Amino acid sequence: MAKCPLPRPLLYLIFCLAICLAVCPLSVQAEGQISGNGLGQVKSHYTVVIDPGHGGENKGTESGTALEKEMTLVTAQALYDELSRYDNVTVYLTRWEDPAQDIKMADRAGLAAQVEADFLFSIHYNASEEHTLFGSEVWVPLKAPFNVYGYRFATLQLAQMEELGLFVRGVKTREGSKGDYYGILRECAALGIPAVIIEHCHVDEPRDASFCASREQWELFGQKDALAIAQFLGLKSQELGVDYSTLSYESLGLPEDVPVALTLKDETPPQLCRIEALEVDYEGGTLTCQVTGYDPDSPMMYYAYSLNGGESFSPLQPWPGSRTALGEYEESFPLTLEVPEGSVPRVVLRAYNMYDGMTVSNLLEEYERFPEKETQTPAPRPALEPDVKPVSAVPVPDPLPQKTDPLSDPLILVLGCGGAVFACLIFILAARALAGRGRGGRQPRNRRGDSSSQPR
Ligand SMILES: [Zn+2]
Repeated sequence: MAKCPLPRPLLYLIFCLAICLAVCPLSVQAEGQISGNGLGQVKSHYTVVIDPGHGGENKGTESGTALEKEMTLVTAQALYDELSRYDNVTVYLTRWEDPAQDIKMADRAGLAAQVEADFLFSIHYNASEEHTLFGSEVWVPLKAPFNVYGYRFATLQLAQMEELGLFVRGVKTREGSKGDYYGILRECAALGIPAVIIEHCHVDEPRDASFCASREQWELFGQKDALAIAQFLGLKSQELGVDYSTLSYESLGLPEDVPVALTLKDETPPQLCRIEALEVDYEGGTLTCQVTGYDPDSPMMYYAYSLNGGESFSPLQPWPGSRTALGEYEESFPLTLEVPEGSVPRVVLRAYNMYDGMTVSNLLEEYERFPEKETQTPAPRPALEPDVKPVSAVPVPDPLPQKTDPLSDPLILVLGCGGAVFACLIFILAARALAGRGRGGRQPRNRRGDSSSQPR
């Protein structure tokens, strides 16, 4: 038997490397990759139920220009139209019109169970008590595996909202006394159906209201939802010429692992909110401070500042680097504020986490009064001479005689016409007298004025 030319330790190394190469790809796949689609189970046919929120007596939010129950129906119908263009999917709506009475959550979930739905998507628009909140969010069920499915769909849907230009408020859960706080999630979970609530944007906040001001925009939301559902289920469409069956979260820039812990309601406000003075420019009218915020439970989402010690605050601002759906945010950033001239700034900051929990910062008040800016005053007008009379007392000269059109005076017109007629008569009489003298007499004429010598 021929002896192997390689030394024994090297052989061991090669053997170990071969084992590693064989096992590693499998373990990576087992940890992260979603096998097939967001439900982790590829099927030949899917049944999807779209639930237009509210209806009947239950109008939903009335803060915007339209009722929420009308907006959700338009979005749901557009979603139906778009999703129906994909292969191997049947789409149902829990309502096709505005019903006389609101449909109970149990009935909406019951319909989904009746058609053996793979998923229910509940369509909504948002509003806040103070009309200050802005952005899109998705509510998912509390329990596994539905929270995982919900999270996977939500990251796709919120990526669509972010692309439209909306701020993302994240993927969330809310617990009530009976389990999920929101009835549709609770009733669906009880029947074994995964469900989510999509809150597209806030109808009562100016920044968001511009995204949902028209019927076309409500329809656009439905089309975006349909795309996210198609990606989530890995659908194909011959009509649209698309195939999402091999789509990976990685290719969409989304994490493959699911940080479901992020979706658990954060009951406490941010642990830290601190501001430190960095620079002050009295002439330029600005001050810069370093803002630091931290929350171990949920990402930071908004901030608002006050220049008068907390008497009033700015509108909410997006926290820099905040990607709430992914749990990311900048823990510290410099903030430059414009200071009104003549004021002594007393700076306070409010920091909000993903669940709108708020912490107030320390007070920065070591500033002096910001100077009044020298404004270029217009040159003073020359004073009136003492002997000049007020304008109203100056005698008004008689108006100049106006140049008139002679034809516009009736008397001139009559006289002119009469003179012309008289001159014509004189001219005709004189001409006749001259003609008569030249021919020596007049020829007789018949009635028609023809000469009698003419043949008939
Ligand atoms: Zn609603």
